[in-house]
Order: sequence, then structure tokens, then C-alpha cells
Amino acid sequence: VPELPEVETVVRSLRPKLRAAKLGPVWWSGLPLHLLRPPDVKAIQRICAGTRVSDVRRRAKYILIDVEARGRSRGGVVVHLGMTGQLRVVPADAPRVAHTHLVWPLGGGRELRFVDPRRFGWVMAGDVLDELPELQGLGPDPLEQLDAPALAASLAASRAPIKAFLLDQRRVAGLGNIYVSEALFRAGVHPVTPARRARKRAAALVEAIRAVLEQGINNRGTTLRDYVDADGMTGGNSSALQVYGREGEPCVACAAPIVRRVDAGRSTFFCARCQRR
Ligand SMILES: [Zn+2]
Repeated sequence: VPELPEVETVVRSLRPKLRAAKLGPVWWSGLPLHLLRPPDVKAIQRICAGTRVSDVRRRAKYILIDVEARGRSRGGVVVHLGMTGQLRVVPADAPRVAHTHLVWPLGGGRELRFVDPRRFGWVMAGDVLDELPELQGLGPDPLEQLDAPALAASLAASRAPIKAFLLDQRRVAGLGNIYVSEALFRAGVHPVTPARRARKRAAALVEAIRAVLEQGINNRGTTLRDYVDADGMTGGNSSALQVYGREGEPCVACAAPIVRRVDAGRSTFFCARCQRR
């Protein structure tokens, strides 16, 4: 499941390929995407037709493709990769792989393709992207906005365990199961610690969250199954993970076996000795 480092890696690999590219008429597979909703292809077509891409950026786990016509902003397209979504730039004559759902010709013999086997992802167009309802109510970006005093205040106001708190996109935007597990290990905080009690460790948490995300980005993301960047390259961060997916392996700090716990179908990995409640 792509989290912030994977989405950031996709954005960085897409940006040089898409900037100034002219968008041709969009093609759609005819199949619905997230929640069995068909993408609003008419709106996508209305907004993208005759435009060029002016920028590609990330907000939380969303990919924003800004377009312009005659030097004026025309809004753009937001993409959420869901669980298995991929955005790739490929030669137009490359065979369309199974589960290709949307295709934009880019000119110069290239295409932008959205591929998503499980169809938990979605694509939406907007005249003013930042005002789309889907992008409202997001918490601070852990790389750009999160700071210890604000996190401490937010932790103090919560009744959730710290892990659930950090997964809540309204509290901190962009984290998922992998990087939350890694950040809690790095900060020495047990996943079931009440958020309120973790407020005194806000500074350590901010530092740990940034460190694991930056390492993820430097390694071009974590590929467990489906994730690839815009070139189709898998990420190299799996081997840098210290607890996630390492049940029974020795903790890198104390050699006690890493524990896996399942809550509501989600795995949590931690060191019961290093991570305090
Ligand atoms: Zn340990």
C-alpha cells in the first residue's frame, strides 16, 4: 500500500516526464474504480482537453497534476493510488497491461497510464484542485508542516492509542501501517500507548517520523507487492525496515524477537523490550 514516501517517489519520477506535456483525449476502460464508482471521464476530459501539465505535486497521499492553457491555470487531476494503483509514463506503442483503466496521450509518442488491479484507487478532476472535498480536513504533512508543539497538543486531545492516532489522516497526513510501525520503534514508543500519554514524547516522535519517511524517499519507496514509480521501478526500502514484516527476527537494538500483533485485520510489528508504554 503506497504511503507518503512511495507517493513522493512517484511524484518525483512523474514531474520531469509530465511537465509541459500536452494532454490528449483520455481513454477509459469502462470499469468503475474505488467504491465501484466510475471516474467522471466527462469532467476529466473537460478540464484536461487542450491543456499542458504545469506541475505534479503531492498532498498527503494524493498525487496532484496541475494543468494550464495559454498560461492560465485550468485546475487538474487528483490521483489516489489506493492499494495497487500505478501511474506510469510509457511509449504509446507499448502493450496495455491488464487492469489499465485510464490513458492520456502525451504527445511525442508517450502515454500516461493509470493501472490498478484491485481498483481501490481513484482519479478525479477539479477546476481548483486544492478545494476538492477529498483534500479537505487533512492533518499536517509530516515532512513539511508537523512540529513537536502542535503534535503534543493534538496528542493531548486524543483518546486513541498512539498507533491509531498516527494512522488517522486528520491528525497526521500520509502515514500508513509500515511507516507508523517503523517510527514508533525508532521513537521507542509502544503502539498501544495512549496518545495522551505519548504527548511528552512528541519531539522524539516527530524526529522518528521524519527519519523513517526520509529514508523511505531516499530508497525510492518500499515495495512489498505492487508499488512501482513512474518508470516501473520497484523501491529499495524493504531491507531498511527494522520491525515491519520482521516477526520473530532479532531486534536490531536488543536482539529480542520482534512481535507481531493483529488489530482489526492490521498487523503491528514492534519490540516489546525497546518500546515503552
Ligand atoms: Zn529491542
